[in-house]
Amino acid sequence: MDTSVSSITDNTSNLHEAVNKNLYVRPKRTVEERKHLKQRIPELLWTERLIRGFPKFVDARTEHVFSWHGHELPIYSLTLGNRDPATPTVLFTGGVHGLERIGTQVILAWLQSFLERASWDKNTAALLQQIQIVVVPIVNPVGIYRNTRSNGNDVDLNRNAPIEAEARVPFIGGGHRISPRIPCYRGKPNNEMEKENQILESIIKRQILNHPISLVLDLHSGLGMRDHIWFPYAYRKRPIGNIAKFLALKFLWERTYPRQPYIYEPQSVHYLAHGDIWDYFYKLAKTSSQCTFMPLTLEMGSWNWVRKNPLQLKTLSGIFNPQIAHRHSRVLRRHLVFLDFILSAAINSSSWLPDKAHSEVLKQAAKNIWYSE
Ligand SMILES: [Zn+2]
Repeated sequence: MDTSVSSITDNTSNLHEAVNKNLYVRPKRTVEERKHLKQRIPELLWTERLIRGFPKFVDARTEHVFSWHGHELPIYSLTLGNRDPATPTVLFTGGVHGLERIGTQVILAWLQSFLERASWDKNTAALLQQIQIVVVPIVNPVGIYRNTRSNGNDVDLNRNAPIEAEARVPFIGGGHRISPRIPCYRGKPNNEMEKENQILESIIKRQILNHPISLVLDLHSGLGMRDHIWFPYAYRKRPIGNIAKFLALKFLWERTYPRQPYIYEPQSVHYLAHGDIWDYFYKLAKTSSQCTFMPLTLEMGSWNWVRKNPLQLKTLSGIFNPQIAHRHSRVLRRHLVFLDFILSAAINSSSWLPDKAHSEVLKQAAKNIWYSE
């Protein structure tokens, strides 16, 4: 059997070669290393199983590899469907906050079902002609590996973009530069964005902004009883330019699924934050492309799981993730419909994107709903 040292070297060159060639190469790992990763970051092995299991549909790429205490932790992107720039596109991202691994699991559960279905259902396979789907299930592999919100540099990736909030943010939680030892650290003032965010930016520039419309869903879990769908901005209380489109999407969703579980609103209704990456990418899309770029965040309310099983409070992971098997399965099932809906909404945007006159009405309605004092 390989010694762990030589196999780590093998794996390092193997994975770095994959990054250099812009493709996915199956990582070489010892049995011990696999066991270890299965304990610490099973979502990584799950992603690799989907890449290997569905080569006909999944075009995977090793975007970057972090070396963390002798372990090689890659960021993968998975692309499905039609890359023609004329098609609409969706982007699903998870694991920005490493502690909130349930977000990554929800994406992988959806992707697994979607791929299984595409392999026998002609309609699902045909749908892939009409859309490009890009999935980055683990944006922050080091954070997931070590069970922290932040990345390996102790930076909170969703407080790290070069954007300052216009008004007061919650102390600590809204992002700060006091110390990397305190959660929600933004990073040093003049540093470039963290590597994970640079990777996301390069994927967005390479594969998203050259398309006419992109719906994005970034999955998180947090402290609250309800599941929320948030949209930008986080840095200001004034409405986003595309507010009419976000409200049209909300109405479409709620009309189609009247018994849906989400509260859908701008993030600024809850709190303002510095350095939100979706504020940053939205502005990037606006200034550098014609793409109708609509980022949404699913914030799964974790208090509900804690309320039903208070023992979860004993561990940090228990505060952010359902721990009991049946509840965990229920969470993985619960959001499948919404992810499917995002796909259909992107493909059929001409059926619901408002025209100019309707936009004015929606803008006014949005002001009344969310922005009146
Ligand atoms: Zn989060």
